[in-house]
Amino acid sequence: MDTKLFYDQVDPATILGKACYAVVGNPIGHSLSPWIHQRFAEQAAQAMYYGRIQAPVEGFQATAEAFFQQGGRGLNVTIPFKLEACAFAKQLTAHAQLAGAVNTLWQAGGQINGDNTDGLGLVRDLDAQGIELKGMKILILGAGGAARGIIGPLLAQSPAAVMIANRSPSKAKQLATLFAELAHSVGVALTAESSEDLVTQVSSGTLGQFDLVINATAASLTVLSPISDQAAAQLFQPRTFAYDLVYGKPTPFMQQALQHGSRVSDGLGMLVEQAAAAFLIWRGATFSSTINPRQVLAELRHVLA
Ligand code: NDP
Repeated sequence: MDTKLFYDQVDPATILGKACYAVVGNPIGHSLSPWIHQRFAEQAAQAMYYGRIQAPVEGFQATAEAFFQQGGRGLNVTIPFKLEACAFAKQLTAHAQLAGAVNTLWQAGGQINGDNTDGLGLVRDLDAQGIELKGMKILILGAGGAARGIIGPLLAQSPAAVMIANRSPSKAKQLATLFAELAHSVGVALTAESSEDLVTQVSSGTLGQFDLVINATAASLTVLSPISDQAAAQLFQPRTFAYDLVYGKPTPFMQQALQHGSRVSDGLGMLVEQAAAAFLIWRGATFSSTINPRQVLAELRHVLA
């Protein structure tokens, strides 16, 4: 493996004889994935190296090809390459195919396989926080790559209803159409709204209360909330759970929810749980009882504090 592929300077001796994995994105310097996978490797006593790769914006395919040709075993894929990773994989899991977005690639049977573990990561994190999704009314804000990854696994938990609301309404409607058959098959009412209409309907009380509000927009990255304070006052109640996919310090969305007595969570647990799911795909499901994602999450929160 040519160590020049990696974002960080890597001594070739460090990776000698180890199975190599990496996360590829642009930018990539902020990624916590190497730290998380290193801890899983230690827990499972696996000799593996996990690095960061910054692919040129127009160069995902060439970078991924070079990594696998040089013997790389698996890649995690982050912004902005999840859709390209889906096209790159020759074999997709049913969930990745439906989502049209891939965050985990690996070589098996002489070809590149792709899956999307983001939604599973979210569901596992919610479960670990005591959130029972069955029968819930869920609102998803945003209709980008992250929303694509989470809708399928959320529907599979049999909530009562899922609404997707997005700034650009056509994208929300597109996603609702894409997942309509799955929603129908599991008896979930799946609807789409523009963010504007959502605010009107929430304010007039026609929508009723949501149990879980998920911020899957990129608004928090620009220190904004995707909803106004007025809409937040209607949406958030003490029984509401507000989940922001972004992690780090409390976001404006989380602060709005806290002001109205709602329970909140950032997306750090989802990040760790999606990584755990990828680790098990790569290294084998037998390690599911060996690795401890909740311990890794607690350690990571300590490191970031
Ligand atoms: P995309 O760029 O694919 O989609 C962005 C979405 O956010 C679109 O729906 C867009 O609306 C909306 N949006 C952006 N800015 C605003 C704003 N100011 N107000 C309202 N809506 C806005 O990004 P992703 O879906 O890939 O990622 C979304 C977030 O999820 C990111 O912050 C990412 O870091 C996080 N994430 C976290 C993960 C975890 O493990 N915790 C995993 C994956 C993602 P429009 O369509 O109108 O442009």
